[in-house]
Amino acid sequence: MEKAKTNIDKNNCDVVCAPANRTAIIAVVVASILLSVLLIAGGVIFFGGRGMVAAAPPPHETVVAVQSGDTLSKLLTEQNLTKGDANAIAAMLKSDCGVSGIRAGADRLTFKRANEEAPVDKIVLASGPWKRIEMTCGADGKWSAAEVSVEKSTYLVRKSGKIPAGGVFSQTGIDAGIPIGVVYEIINLLAFEIDFERDIQPGQEFVVLYEENMIDGRTIDGGRVIFVSFDTHLDRRGKLEMYRFEKPDGKFGFYDFEGKGAIKSLKRTPIDGASVSSKFNPNRKHPVLGFTRAHKGVDFRAATGTPIPSAGAGRVVKREFNSGYGNFVRIRHANGFETVYAHMSRFQKGINVGTTVAQGQIIGFVGSTGLSTGPHLHFEIRINNVAVNPANYLPI
Ligand SMILES: [Zn+2]
Repeated sequence: MEKAKTNIDKNNCDVVCAPANRTAIIAVVVASILLSVLLIAGGVIFFGGRGMVAAAPPPHETVVAVQSGDTLSKLLTEQNLTKGDANAIAAMLKSDCGVSGIRAGADRLTFKRANEEAPVDKIVLASGPWKRIEMTCGADGKWSAAEVSVEKSTYLVRKSGKIPAGGVFSQTGIDAGIPIGVVYEIINLLAFEIDFERDIQPGQEFVVLYEENMIDGRTIDGGRVIFVSFDTHLDRRGKLEMYRFEKPDGKFGFYDFEGKGAIKSLKRTPIDGASVSSKFNPNRKHPVLGFTRAHKGVDFRAATGTPIPSAGAGRVVKREFNSGYGNFVRIRHANGFETVYAHMSRFQKGINVGTTVAQGQIIGFVGSTGLSTGPHLHFEIRINNVAVNPANYLPI
């Protein structure tokens, strides 16, 4: 009887919160009274036996993942909140919590009720994995909102695997329980070292250490890769190992066991010790042409004749002169990566279209051919034919 009475009291609160929903409230009150009667009857019939366990109906939760086309107001009214309450909640979210809308695919609303039939008395908005806002209908019928902290636990997870006969790394990684995002991060990290389409062989072993973020015992995401080790059967390099290291200034990079830049092919590229004279800039005013033209690479100042090493192992796909780049070489690496070296004074002997080059192999010499104001190396990194900012790949 006690619990059933509590239900009725709660419904009084909701009469104020949702005044337009009288029919439903009356139905709930009637249902609660009926339930009380049934409980009393049950007590008599079962004489305190197992039947008593039924007590009041359990609290009820409805979780709604926000989809495209959803608005807060729509989702609230679908849960039988009045238009007035929906508007008040939206205004309160904006003024108290700085939330001006809900995002499809990212946000989730949990509607809580005292029982399945009762009106909503609590709403939790999960905005992305890390933000929670609790909206509560108070005893006075007014809604209030507060951001609550999300208890996040980060664990280090170690996973390992071995490429089976006919296997590929991505599937083997997923089979080993590595989250797909972490698998892709590993592929990106090792992209210059391993060709994941052609160089994967049965028996290659890998180990990865990554962060896993959990909330309420649920894994929210596979976080950052901390360490990765991968067997190479390509050459005598043995295991490739990369350790994530964050410097005091907050910048981080991947390093090998000896603290050298682990993305070796890029660290050594293009010319040791050369200074950057022009950065990647999508809106640069071209020094020779005079009008705005994207600078799709990085320029390194160096004396004419300075040897230019290849960024990584690959195959020469272009070796020619054009009016802009002058003498240039384009090398295709694994996994959709290409590098471009322009304004060369001359090509290295033996470097032709189709030549396979090793990492660090000299492909040509610094010059000032093409549209150039002085001797320098213009260097580009392309991924799937789109020029990317080499600064994201180089410690420059
Ligand atoms: Zn340039």
